[in-house]
Amino acid sequence: LANILDSVSGPGPVFTGSPRNKLLLISFDGFRWDYDRDVSTPHLDKMAQDGVKAAYITPPFITITSPSHFTLLTGRHVENHGVIHNIWFNTTTQEKKQYYMAQFVDSYWDNGSLPIWITAQRQGLKTGSLHFPGTAATYQGETVAVRQVEPRFYDHSNETDWRLNIDKVIGGWFNQQDLDFVSLYFGEPDTVGHKYGPDSPERRDMVKQVDRTVGYIRDKIQEHGLTDQLNIIITTDHGMNSILQTGMSEKIILSNIPGFSFSDIKFQLLDYGPVGMLLPKEGKLEKVYQALKGGHPHLNVYKKEEMPARLHYSNHPRLLPLILFADPGYAISGSRQLQFNKGDHGFDNELMDMKAIFRAVGPFDMVSVYPLMCHLLGINPEVNDGDSSIIKHMLVSQEDTGGEHDAVLVTVIITTS
Ligand SMILES: [Zn+2]
Repeated sequence: LANILDSVSGPGPVFTGSPRNKLLLISFDGFRWDYDRDVSTPHLDKMAQDGVKAAYITPPFITITSPSHFTLLTGRHVENHGVIHNIWFNTTTQEKKQYYMAQFVDSYWDNGSLPIWITAQRQGLKTGSLHFPGTAATYQGETVAVRQVEPRFYDHSNETDWRLNIDKVIGGWFNQQDLDFVSLYFGEPDTVGHKYGPDSPERRDMVKQVDRTVGYIRDKIQEHGLTDQLNIIITTDHGMNSILQTGMSEKIILSNIPGFSFSDIKFQLLDYGPVGMLLPKEGKLEKVYQALKGGHPHLNVYKKEEMPARLHYSNHPRLLPLILFADPGYAISGSRQLQFNKGDHGFDNELMDMKAIFRAVGPFDMVSVYPLMCHLLGINPEVNDGDSSIIKHMLVSQEDTGGEHDAVLVTVIITTS
């Protein structure tokens, strides 16, 4: 792995002397760390020049949308914040809610870890969120005060809509309503990455659209006179890996594995990219485990309590007793192939294709974005898993800026792959 410190560019540390600057957290879903390497991205490059640039950031496992975004908002590993999957499920009733409907299950999100909106509001700040995962839920009786929840069946790629939303956030929320913190979410380039693959011309075109959008955001900030008081973090939740187009015999289909039978399974979470979870029927755990372990050369099978500690994906009651994840290039299917994505994510967060671009200094885990944001907003963080010592390497102190407290531009570009 490349040493992040070797690839730092830009003029050096970014500023933040005074607390109580405004902060805009932007996520472009599925923006892999190296997506700016094969496309011209003048606006992202300009941000790196104005701030600092490191090679990548490491997302939490599992590397999928809701768990990873909630790590950004809380600074907690997935096993500690409890939003363990995009799908909400109940193993007793067999009920499942997919990504969108799961956004509205308050108890799924309000699970002990407070997102930064609520913490900031309790400390007197005004916060907002547009389409960001977690926005729809109520936490300990509070929601983010100003919010726009994503409509159902939303077209994530419409650039006109992107600009209307940016106008609302910059002109309306930050400028007119004087909000301190806003999280802003875009569903691309994730969708094109799944559909066409991370190496496709469609993905490259979408990265150009993202870059134009970054330019538009900075123009709007300038237009409203907010440049000197608004920090910007651009980030994402995970990267994207090309799914191998193999013959049927090479695919991971659990029902084809000798000794495995769905009659031994009480509840399953499968057909969701490279990750899966199983709840065997009583007394069947060992049998199912033994059948699947070694059942396919590219399938990793763990009892929950034996998951590698570095993945931080074992210590939560919502996790099912058997956890499966595939090697790069493979998806996990139950009884037949239901998935036809050319790109996917959810893999081990050590895989380079899961990493995120990050424009700051230091070996950075996504859990550490949260204490950085709290520092920038001048609020006391909740208990979290981040490393706040990393912050001081990234920021110039008040003395270093000659006592000028107002020059603030943090250019942190976290592009998770
Ligand atoms: Zn995502």
